[in-house]
Amino acid sequence: MAIATINPASGETLKIFEPLNDAEIASKLNLADQTFAQYRQTSFSERSQWLKTAATILQQEKADLAKTMTLEMGKPYQASMSEVEKCALVCQYYAEQAPSFLADVPVTTDASQSFVCYQPLGVILAVMPWNFPFWQVFRFAAPALMAGNVGLLKHASNVPQCALAIEDIIHRAGFPPGAFQTLLIGAAKVADLMADDRVKAATLTGSEPAGASLAAAAGQQIKKTVLELGGSDPFIVLETADLETAVANATTARMLNNGQSCIAAKRFIIAEAIATEFEKLLLDKFLALKVGDPMHPDTDLGPLATPGILEDLDQQVQTAIKSGGKVLTGGHPLSERPGNFYPPTIITDIPPDSAIAQEEFFGPVALLFRVPDIDAAIQLANATPFGLGASAWTNNHQERRRLITEIEAGAVFINGMVKSDPRLPFGGIKRSGYGRELSIQGIHEFVNVKTVWVK
Ligand code: NDP
Repeated sequence: MAIATINPASGETLKIFEPLNDAEIASKLNLADQTFAQYRQTSFSERSQWLKTAATILQQEKADLAKTMTLEMGKPYQASMSEVEKCALVCQYYAEQAPSFLADVPVTTDASQSFVCYQPLGVILAVMPWNFPFWQVFRFAAPALMAGNVGLLKHASNVPQCALAIEDIIHRAGFPPGAFQTLLIGAAKVADLMADDRVKAATLTGSEPAGASLAAAAGQQIKKTVLELGGSDPFIVLETADLETAVANATTARMLNNGQSCIAAKRFIIAEAIATEFEKLLLDKFLALKVGDPMHPDTDLGPLATPGILEDLDQQVQTAIKSGGKVLTGGHPLSERPGNFYPPTIITDIPPDSAIAQEEFFGPVALLFRVPDIDAAIQLANATPFGLGASAWTNNHQERRRLITEIEAGAVFINGMVKSDPRLPFGGIKRSGYGRELSIQGIHEFVNVKTVWVK
């Protein structure tokens, strides 16, 4: 895939970038490695100051940064603005919390002194996706830099200007030039990077094949990885739920980021007793959404990021229909206009055990299932290879307990949509990946947890 900015709302190629050659990659790796030797000696207060400056730059420049994001991947401009603000928040959070998260932990043993300390690992490679082109990077970079690691970013090939802007912000904030570098390279170069001694570990957010490929390359070298892959999150609504609130959240949770979020609600599992009403209310909400230019303030749903994503999504929809699914609205690309537009789509009646029901729909398509009771709801929620997040709606205390305990996912949200928050760990189980980002767990992923024992 060419490294280029192609406006998803128009299909127009705006800028093409030459990928780095091998010598350029080697020189950036050298700089990262040399920088680590000094950077690891810097104090928390220096790193914290730089990260707070990064937060200030993000706040001050959010209008322009948001424009770049929307231009490259198509999310509505307001959502891009919110994303930049959230990046500032995660910088601020780790600037304040990292010293306590990484403080020595004394442990009483037979030694005169024993404790656990946390030391940086070195150069960490981040392979990142286009869907939250700023957030995904900052939620890696903020804890990694605070821990004393240095970062190399291989961003998705369709968001090169975001990738360069992030590098620029981190440099201007005061971090040494080698502490965080963007590598404009294709995916084919990632395995070589993993094989390089100077790269100590890696994190990837993206598809299962990309995650499996990175983890295989890392496994050959016995290097740690964190993987945040896809999800097919259930959104369960039981009989006692506040239906209006659940439907409003269902719409937001499915349409967030033009439907292209790993934690978007994708399978709506509704108790039979309220399913007809839910279906009707959801349809009304979907029909009211405005599809159009993502720069326009009234737009709810912009284009999908690439023609490939559009094509894949449409193929899944057609397969769902062939498998018995009924389309309540949408169901075909909006081909009368340029750009990668897909309308809000609702499909009911897909057999839960069909192959297509196991897949992740990365776009504005809601799959609706009816279940007789909570047992069937939990069983269907878990009947997927993924295990990222789950949202469940009920006002019954016992049901709440069962949902929290029995749902197989990295996160369960009761009476709320799944979202990421710097204060809470984020990540999945099963084919959604492993490891955690954010919170104290996130900063502990890329450190040497060193045991110290003194007689
Ligand atoms: P990819 O997984 O292909 O891309 C994500 C990142 O991984 C990009 O930087 C990409 O680089 C890189 N990459 C791709 N293949 C490899 C590889 N073999 N080894 C190392 N790095 C690799 O996602 P797509 O953009 O193709 O989207 C496809 C699907 O992935 C979506 O429909 C969705 O299901 C899922 N996805 C999930 C995301 C999430 O948030 N969990 C985010 C994005 C996608 P390059 O761009 O150069 O190919």
